[in-house]
Amino acid sequence: MPKVAPIRYSIIPRSPQAHLFEVTCTVDDPEPNGQGFALPAWAPGSYLIRDFARNVVAVEARSGRRPVPIIKVDKHTWVAAPARGPLTLTLEVYAWDLSVRAAHLDASHGFFNGPSVFPRVLGKEARACEVDIKAPRGLRYRSWRVATTMRRQRAPVNGFGLYRAASYDEMIDHPVEMGAFTLARFEARGVPHDIAISGRHDADVERLCADLRRLCESHIALFGPQAPMQRYLFLVSAASEGYGGLEHRDSTALLCSREDLPRAGMRAPSEGYRVFLGLCSHEYFHTWNVKRIKPAAFTPYDLGHENYTRLLWAFEGITSYYDDLQLVRAGLISESDYLEILGRNITSLLRTAGRMKQTVEQASFDAWIKYYRPDENSPNAQVSYYLKGSLIALCLDLTIRSRTRGRKSLDDILRALWHEYGKTGLGVPEDGIERLAERVTGIRLRTFFDRALRSTEELPLRRLLASVGIDMRLRPAESATDKGGKPAIAPARELASRVTLGVRVADDANGARLWHVLDGGAAQAAGLSAGDVLVAIDGFKVSAGNLDRRLARYRPGDAATLHAFRSDQLLEFRIAMRAAPLDTCTLQFTGSDRAAANRRRAWLHLRG
Ligand SMILES: [Zn+2]
Repeated sequence: MPKVAPIRYSIIPRSPQAHLFEVTCTVDDPEPNGQGFALPAWAPGSYLIRDFARNVVAVEARSGRRPVPIIKVDKHTWVAAPARGPLTLTLEVYAWDLSVRAAHLDASHGFFNGPSVFPRVLGKEARACEVDIKAPRGLRYRSWRVATTMRRQRAPVNGFGLYRAASYDEMIDHPVEMGAFTLARFEARGVPHDIAISGRHDADVERLCADLRRLCESHIALFGPQAPMQRYLFLVSAASEGYGGLEHRDSTALLCSREDLPRAGMRAPSEGYRVFLGLCSHEYFHTWNVKRIKPAAFTPYDLGHENYTRLLWAFEGITSYYDDLQLVRAGLISESDYLEILGRNITSLLRTAGRMKQTVEQASFDAWIKYYRPDENSPNAQVSYYLKGSLIALCLDLTIRSRTRGRKSLDDILRALWHEYGKTGLGVPEDGIERLAERVTGIRLRTFFDRALRSTEELPLRRLLASVGIDMRLRPAESATDKGGKPAIAPARELASRVTLGVRVADDANGARLWHVLDGGAAQAAGLSAGDVLVAIDGFKVSAGNLDRRLARYRPGDAATLHAFRSDQLLEFRIAMRAAPLDTCTLQFTGSDRAAANRRRAWLHLRG
């Protein structure tokens, strides 16, 4: 059989000032009836139709020197007229999306996620691909290098040149950073791990390497015994602000605030660094859970359409549970830090009235139209499959530990998932996790799953946390910035008489703009709407900054007159103040029960 020619791609930062990449795609044996090319509608890991073709500024096709006519047949598909011999499609792609999902290019650096720039050759997606990653022209780009986990074919280490992938799917799963980034390396269980940091920063890179090494080793040990990849890359973009990450098979692209990276001399991790480590942990855990253990709905990905699954509670929720849990297990944060994080998560869930309306299975299925497209009513109508999914994972773990007397845990389920689906590449059927959980643990979990995944009943958090010696308490929020997880500073009596309007506000030049009007709150009952700009309470000017202070003068049941602008109309509302709800969670160790404390140590992998 003749060797099938690879699809040949090239990408060059053609005009960094205009944020334009030029991408070419050459197929040696185009379809005789006309060759189709298509850009993905979405990027795996981020479940929203993004229509990357919208950033294509110009398209042309050539065979040798001869132009070949092309027509567009739908929003992201082009078909070239029949051509003999090599056919090259050239796209000019606008790249000014400072996120981890698409592409970004200016004179300081370039980044791209494959789905946003590389067209796939229809009918030839399984072919090997070659990618010529070319340097921009000009002396000012002399110091630029390349960071990616795509395999080098003819390119120096971290250099521009020829790279290759076994298929289209593999090619677009290796994001590429180019620029003058900081590069550092550590090994975890014998596997080289690189960190490339772009953007200005003063991070303590040695500390970062040491911490990430412990974290990565604890993930590898969890799934064991060896890492599934030959190398790994953390692509970090340090910006003034921002937060995000996207998982890939051998790498992750992360966006963080430069303030969140560790400073020289820092001892206990700052809150920002703790969050950054949690993000690294989350994306690294995905190396197993979603990049290799995948829902059947993603095997293969259909890049032209929505891919529906009810399992995102597991792929994102279980990952969100382990991202913080592994930080305490690896000794990177303290047990009380972990309790604070859990307390905050429970607080977030309790402040989401939408948990009473939407189940996590529904949230997962509707991610494409809801989670990724939040609006003013989202807190009232939706629940996050990340957040509730992580707390379901916690409840599942503690349930299994308690009912098997510590013989089994969620760790065993993950290892079984890895063995049966991750290593084999078989997709997880929609009921696969539930069936496997019962088989691995030997206990019946049907009722647990029915309630947790398919109902809006409250999770049995208080009872399960008590089984590991943690006391869960609820109190009113102290202020608009109180995220929970910590005891209140104000005395209980003062808190009990605190009132809230039941809104979330943002700054506005004229007052406090109502971002969300929450179900069950005083503002909703009085007739206020999201988008209204609250300007006065009982004749006194209010802003997002002074709202808490103004409200501190009222007690539950007090009446007040509110003035707010809706568009250009000034409206008046009579409001009856309501007590702040008990929606803020604090967790504390209970010292008395030795058996519970032992169970907690086993769960958190604590010694002693
Ligand atoms: Zn995730």
